[in-house]
Amino acid sequence: MDIVLAGLFGLVLGAGLNIIIIRLPRERGFGGPPRCTRCGQRLAWWQALPLAGWLIQAGRARCCGRRLDAIYPLVDALTALSVMLLYMRHGLSVSFCYITAVTAVLIVTGAIDWQHRLIYTLPTLGATLAAGAVAFIVPYHSLLNAVLGLLVAGILFVVFYLVARIMFPAHRAPFGLGDVYLGMFIGAALGLTNLLGALLYGMLLAGAFAGLIVLVRRIGRRPTPQYISYGTFLCVGALLYVLIWGLAGPRATW
Ligand SMILES: [Zn+2]
Repeated sequence: MDIVLAGLFGLVLGAGLNIIIIRLPRERGFGGPPRCTRCGQRLAWWQALPLAGWLIQAGRARCCGRRLDAIYPLVDALTALSVMLLYMRHGLSVSFCYITAVTAVLIVTGAIDWQHRLIYTLPTLGATLAAGAVAFIVPYHSLLNAVLGLLVAGILFVVFYLVARIMFPAHRAPFGLGDVYLGMFIGAALGLTNLLGALLYGMLLAGAFAGLIVLVRRIGRRPTPQYISYGTFLCVGALLYVLIWGLAGPRATW
């Protein structure tokens, strides 16, 4: 029963995250009724249901017949699944609340970067500060662990950023400053003890996806994306890492 409640809470949280994902980049306020992401018409209550709304409409908006982005039901499902897994591991505890909040930041950041190739500076840095500020009450985490994670990720990603600028001076940087801020958030949120594992997952996922794009280009004429949203893979990788390992890596004793 508990786990069903956790899943329902995850769906409600996912719906809340989708409101941010839809409205923040379009600079719409957070008040007001839900509207169709395609034509702007007001939605019926059932169209706005997390996951179910998309399924009932079979991925096509009832109001205007246009295809709805699959990322929204994916966010609902991923959030619900993450909350259930975290609840199974941590129960109702400080760790559960903390990692659920970190998960929410990762999902919102990953989804917005995927859709708009954009990572917001102030919210990301704010989340980084917030994670550092509460790290001392989270088991297997500490303020020092958060600060060291932030510093190591920051230095590593600034080096990546500079290398990308030097290697591809003519292009828009494939690795932007937003990715640096995101790396700092992951470092502070998970701590130095979990940082390298979390980044490794994201880099492997990004590498696998880039390989897939090259393969699809070779064998077919299907349109392929011109770039990959690196931040999305960092978010998914970090999420995958905490879902599999929790923050239980080596215990931070400092
Ligand atoms: Zn519509």
